[in-house]
Amino acid sequence: MIVLKFGGTSVGDAVRVREAAVIVAAQRQPRAVVVSAAAGATNLLLDAANAAASGDQTGVEAAAARVRQTHADVAAGIADEAEQAWVLAELDQLHAALDDNLAQVVVHNNLTADQSDAIVATGEKAMSLLMAATLRSRGIPAAHVFADRVIGTDDRFGAARPDRVRTRDQAEALVRPLLDSGLTVVLTGFIGSAPDGRTTTLGRGGSDYSATLIGAALNADEVQIWTDVPGVLSADPRQVDDARVVPHISYDEAQELAHFGAKVLHPRTIRPAVARGIPVRILSTFAPDEPGTLVTRQSVGDQVKAVTVLSGLMLLTLDVPELEDLAGASAVVFGALHDDRVEIVAAAQASSRRRMTYLVDAAAHGGCSTVGSRLRAALDAKDVEAEVGCAEDVALVAAVGQGAAAQPTSLARFLDVLTRSGTPVLSASQQSSNVALTATVPAGQAARAVQALHNAFIRSQHASARGRRPRKSELQSESVRVG
Ligand code: ADP
Ligand code: ASP
Ligand code: MG
Repeated sequence: MIVLKFGGTSVGDAVRVREAAVIVAAQRQPRAVVVSAAAGATNLLLDAANAAASGDQTGVEAAAARVRQTHADVAAGIADEAEQAWVLAELDQLHAALDDNLAQVVVHNNLTADQSDAIVATGEKAMSLLMAATLRSRGIPAAHVFADRVIGTDDRFGAARPDRVRTRDQAEALVRPLLDSGLTVVLTGFIGSAPDGRTTTLGRGGSDYSATLIGAALNADEVQIWTDVPGVLSADPRQVDDARVVPHISYDEAQELAHFGAKVLHPRTIRPAVARGIPVRILSTFAPDEPGTLVTRQSVGDQVKAVTVLSGLMLLTLDVPELEDLAGASAVVFGALHDDRVEIVAAAQASSRRRMTYLVDAAAHGGCSTVGSRLRAALDAKDVEAEVGCAEDVALVAAVGQGAAAQPTSLARFLDVLTRSGTPVLSASQQSSNVALTATVPAGQAARAVQALHNAFIRSQHASARGRRPRKSELQSESVRVG
């Protein structure tokens, strides 16, 4: 069986949902379909929740009305009258539950993380109903399943971690029999449920992760991520004009790309696929015949495959008087970050060796004022002599490619490109996995840095592949080719 996941733009309106249904229908194998909320719906639902928390009844009404309208527009595109009537009745119930949840928030003047998850889940739930009805109206027997009955998670609302065993058991009990009876099963992306049954979410963009979790639970032959770009590209097309499709990448490369900011895959998407060796394909609903990107265990070629930017970070530094103090001070820092559930994007020992650096998402953790003082207090409590520094508005740029990053001279070359482009480098490292080269740079310089890296590492490969003499601007890049 295969899993097909459709992202927000790919189910953004009635036409896109119908196009997605055509793609599903073209697959001959048993299939599970995972859907995101329609583009914009999750943000609107969050707006409604936040308006409710601040008692802004007009804001609540306005956002909720736009959500209802988005769903009604898709429903209006369903040709079969009985299916349309069914979906409208189901949507009414779902929207009534949404209104109740929002009203609760208004009454208590407070939005808890579990209430927020219950509210945002409405977007994916509605889309699973709409997709199932659309498929049936095209003569494809289909059933919807809300994935809070399938994906078991812990209770970190907003960023829940899956429980693989519970997920597999629930998928076998609930989804497998539907597939076996010949139905296409349409599941909600993004959501799961805590051990006590309350709905959780897997973090923004989490529907990709839902797809591989469900794929792994059902031992799928392939997971297809259908999106609005024709595959994983060599850079974010919004940042680099001549970004191009990377036909094949390894799990390790995909994992690093996603971790270091390539939004096309949620950072955790790849891990469930690795465990069972399930191929993941990234395809475009706007160009369904294009081959896209295939992600498997193998790495092909030894060149840099893509460059990425991760913005909104803060750079924490820890300086100790003597090298032998570093382990103890780091232990305190890691302990405090762990206790506060602060996720570390990257950590490295600086070349001075008495300094450790840690990169952390700034917005998620309250910025330097919160994290910096928390670490200072933790070190003081243990009477550890160390200096903590913190800088905001930092971005991480990365060049990803298994063979390329493993070469001993490649970090120097990577830094050379950044320096020549006039980008100040705050810290740099060759990730221990040898899959990515990374540097932290001021956020304002990240766009220029990524363009320079793309010119140097990607454009030059294509110029030489076409057998033409590289332009002068690319000759600089030739000196930094690492593959
Ligand atoms: P979906 O709604 O289908 O999940 P997303 O918006 O989450 O889609 O992810 C697709 C977007 O990711 C693309 O439109 C593109 O702007 C962005 N993106 C960032 N980096 C890359 C990359 N390296 N390759 C492809 N897309 C990328
Ligand atoms: N709808 C959710 C979001 O916007 C999940 C997803 O699209 O993957 O974050
Ligand atoms: Mg996405």
